[in-house]
Amino acid sequence: MEVKSLSRFKNIHLFIDFDGTIATPDSLYFLCQRFADRKWRQIEDKMEKGEIDEREGLQQEFDWLHITQEEALRAIDNGVTLDPYFPDFVRWCQERGLKVTIVSGGFLSFIKRFLRRYGLDHLHIKANRVKIEEKKWRIIPSPGRKDCHKCNNCKTYDVEKAKARGEAIIYIGDGHTDRCPAAVADVVFAKDKLKQYCQKEKLKFYEFSNFGDVMTTLASLLPKGKKP
Ligand SMILES: [Mg+2]
Repeated sequence: MEVKSLSRFKNIHLFIDFDGTIATPDSLYFLCQRFADRKWRQIEDKMEKGEIDEREGLQQEFDWLHITQEEALRAIDNGVTLDPYFPDFVRWCQERGLKVTIVSGGFLSFIKRFLRRYGLDHLHIKANRVKIEEKKWRIIPSPGRKDCHKCNNCKTYDVEKAKARGEAIIYIGDGHTDRCPAAVADVVFAKDKLKQYCQKEKLKFYEFSNFGDVMTTLASLLPKGKKP
């Protein structure tokens, strides 16, 4: 998509994946890799191949994780880091009136807590909710589209609502739950598995490694009025 086509939109809305995109490594992978029975990997492979839905697979993976919330939070505090360019990127978006929503298959309370460390917990976040009792993890069902129940937290549900309001959609992500929303976005920034998917499906995308890259490319795409 070129500058001209973004110019016709009054509002530009960025939808950004969290795990592996804003924070690395992916916090759910990190917890499962470190603490779950290795059977979680088989479930992950099935989800990636589309043999089971994310809604079903996520719960199955966390059935193999037997740690408390405190243990999980401590591990994330010590092992997951924020893209160093992300705080400046958020400020840059705010200065230009660009809306930002984080959409995630991760857990809302964990993401908020993580972002609070960087003063970024004011951001709008749509993510999964989880109830943890002792060492039992239960994913709470999220509302979503009536015609598709694949993902518990449907990212496309939120993207389509913004599209229906006439907003331009910029999607930034890295993984398999980003494929569906990326396919309906106006501009896509992709890395890792989402990049491979876009290449395979011949979807146009901009490659990125960090939010410094996204800022540079996006600056060249924005209509002039969005640059103070
Ligand atoms: Mg991700």
